[in-house]
Amino acid sequence: MYPFAYTRVSGTHEAVDAGRRGGRYIAGGTTLVDLMRETVERPETLVDISRLPLRKVTVTERGGLRIGALVTMSEAAAHPKVRTLYPVVSEALELSASAQLRNMATIGGNIMQRTRCTYFRDVTAACNKREPGSGCAALHGVNRTHAILGTSDACVATHPSDVAVAFTALEATVHLLGPDGERQLPFADFLLRPGKTPNREHALRRGELITAVEIPALARPLESGYLKVRDRQSYEFALTSAAVALHVRGGVVREAKVAAGGVGTVPWKLPAVEERLIGERPSESLWASAAARAADGARPLRHNGFKAELLKRTVERQLRIVGGTK
Ligand code: SF4
Repeated sequence: MYPFAYTRVSGTHEAVDAGRRGGRYIAGGTTLVDLMRETVERPETLVDISRLPLRKVTVTERGGLRIGALVTMSEAAAHPKVRTLYPVVSEALELSASAQLRNMATIGGNIMQRTRCTYFRDVTAACNKREPGSGCAALHGVNRTHAILGTSDACVATHPSDVAVAFTALEATVHLLGPDGERQLPFADFLLRPGKTPNREHALRRGELITAVEIPALARPLESGYLKVRDRQSYEFALTSAAVALHVRGGVVREAKVAAGGVGTVPWKLPAVEERLIGERPSESLWASAAARAADGARPLRHNGFKAELLKRTVERQLRIVGGTK
């Protein structure tokens, strides 16, 4: 570890002011402290936001859900409204990390967590994300767990969050407070694909603070759930995952929200799958034909070609679990 300054703030505007001056926000610290120990990250000033009043889950006027940025993963997963309105969010959280980490890590921190690419965390390896212009050791290295969608010649790392996949499927919005006031960003615009600048991972402006994630009201009844496929059944990141939410009325799929994890440089929305589902009667053949589109556009690397087929099977299985064959 190396020397750094630490300050704790008690108000959101005080936090934004410290962030505007270059401070780095820290709450649960479950990712950032690791990265600082490994010297992957070297912030000069940490701004402790853990006591800000951003720890509530509320139902919005329109019937959606607003989850404060400092709600912990465990609190969000166990919250009765999250469990009943959006089980896909609870399940994604409960399948993440370990119980100890979920008790510390916050929703805001979770969606800001950085990739688990081993080369990113090895400061002796070439990594455009950590050190722009240095190259990408994963492109021709061991890339079994890397992305097949949304990649570029500069970076092929996956985004590691599970709950971000659920938020992407549900078309959530990120609420921000910055030096210029409040704004909201659709989740799909919040996290950035690597392109030529993989070091730019999100659309936050200098000093901006995540205050909440809002899930919109969706047609009811809504069945939803999250399936995660990984090398072992606990404390492991996804090889593939699927977040699915379906509104079926009158024997027909009226709304479908589907996204995948473990395969994209950002949580990967699957509009082609959604389109195939809408207006159709649930059936085994519908699930299979929709899931067949899940890996459209995939660009496998040397060691992760299996992910394209695994992704299709993951999506098909989760469509069957959530939608049945009514
Ligand atoms: Fe770095 Fe991205 Fe390449 Fe991993 S995949 S080494 S994070 S540039």
